Amino acid sequence: MIPQNPRELNYSKVKTYRECPYLYKLKYTEGRKEGLTPATSLGVSIHRTLEDYHSHRGDPSEIMRYYNANFLCAGFRSAAEQMEYYLKGRRMLEVYEQREYGRKSTVDATEREFMFDYEGWVIRGKIDRIDKLEDGGWEVIDYKTDAQLEESYDITSSLQLGIYSIGARRAWNLKKGKATVYFVALDRKISADFDSFNEKEILDIFTAAGEAIKAKKFDPDTKHCPRCLMNNRCPYSVVKQQEAA
Ligand code: SF4
Repeated sequence: MIPQNPRELNYSKVKTYRECPYLYKLKYTEGRKEGLTPATSLGVSIHRTLEDYHSHRGDPSEIMRYYNANFLCAGFRSAAEQMEYYLKGRRMLEVYEQREYGRKSTVDATEREFMFDYEGWVIRGKIDRIDKLEDGGWEVIDYKTDAQLEESYDITSSLQLGIYSIGARRAWNLKKGKATVYFVALDRKISADFDSFNEKEILDIFTAAGEAIKAKKFDPDTKHCPRCLMNNRCPYSVVKQQEAA
């Protein structure tokens, strides 16, 4: 068992609980690790690269140097696969570099943490990047490195960007601004003003998950099994059962 503040919530915990309560138990009460896949490994490398580059206020031409220093050689099944993903990352960052030459905003912070109290809960989060905009507003940015984006994607229904908007307003008192998902692999940004998110609905989702966790309701939800990174180790995995049948 790993120690947890039972009154503390963040997006990752709530997301995991909503995917499968038993997965939450494995990760957050038993401390089991999901392990890296090629895609998650590349995601870590890109996030670390951009944090390093922006926190050093580097020149855009130096991004690849930061990438080479931060590329994670874990989670790959072969050297060829590692090279394939390394080159994918390079292609993303070449486009990112070109964007950087024309950036009008100022990067104010990277990997900044927020925390606020809500109805007896402590809600925390960490945001990839916060920019000050030319019009005096703010932009909180979450990087995504997956290369797929559904046409129906609606940022205002994103629990993650919603809680980031709420955190930016409540913890840092940022009045005017927008939340952005930056699909780095697609060179595409999707944004919504802070006040386009339904604050009450989002906080209700957080507290409902918190109450269920506190009550130790950890029944498996097998709908998530096909995408679950624990599905080869979990006794309730329907994927594993199907493969064995
Ligand atoms: S394999 Fe299925 S039941 Fe097990 S933790 Fe993952 S999603 Fe839950």
